[in-house]
Amino acid sequence: MREVLWERLRRTEIEQAAKAGAVAIIPIASLEQHANHLPVNTDSNIVSTIAERAARAIEGVPVLVLPPIWTGYSPHHMAYPGSVTLKYHTFVDLLTQVASSVHAHGFRKILLLNGHGGNSAVVAGMRTKLAEEDGVSAVGYDYWNLPPMPEAMRRLCTTDKGFVGHAGEFETSAQMYLQPELVDGREAVWAPGAFGDPSAATAEKGRGVIEAAVEALVRLLRAYHSGEVEERLRWRKGAPE
Ligand SMILES: [Zn+2]
Repeated sequence: MREVLWERLRRTEIEQAAKAGAVAIIPIASLEQHANHLPVNTDSNIVSTIAERAARAIEGVPVLVLPPIWTGYSPHHMAYPGSVTLKYHTFVDLLTQVASSVHAHGFRKILLLNGHGGNSAVVAGMRTKLAEEDGVSAVGYDYWNLPPMPEAMRRLCTTDKGFVGHAGEFETSAQMYLQPELVDGREAVWAPGAFGDPSAATAEKGRGVIEAAVEALVRLLRAYHSGEVEERLRWRKGAPE
């Protein structure tokens, strides 16, 4: 099987991938409480699984996946045990330095794939700084917003209605599918620190939403690799003649 995980490659292989114009995905997650029934690695597990599966599934587009940024911006979860957060500026610096390192090795297609709601605004602001102050352009997306993910979530989930929530139906379903041994089914009910209804979750729904996310990411990777994404962004800024 073609290796797509950055950390498992040798430097010569990484150099070849950069020369081949590979897309480098940096999954960005968190280590935080997910109510009483899900493990604290939920966000890392979901976003890195989606990235790895999409990288393996896509044909004709070279893609490498970095190890996930396992801690993010989670000050609002610190009231509960197990959460580890970075300070705002530490997080921005960490993301900047990881993306700049990837760029330094010749990668010009860098995708920041976010898997934690509390990171979204930070990543969006940080990307502007990265481009303007560090000369590194990268695209950034929350995996749950990649079309057609919102539609798939509305179709497959009965309570989350296209919204990712927190330890609710969507994430619980995904974890029942991906890491069932780490889910405490007896505790899969709403508790403080959750957003949504975990009691509606099933592994089957989880399989559906993860497959939809992989499909959505494959579509994005194709568009990014072909230059279509940058074209769209340029058009929005109104720059081209
Ligand atoms: Zn989560």
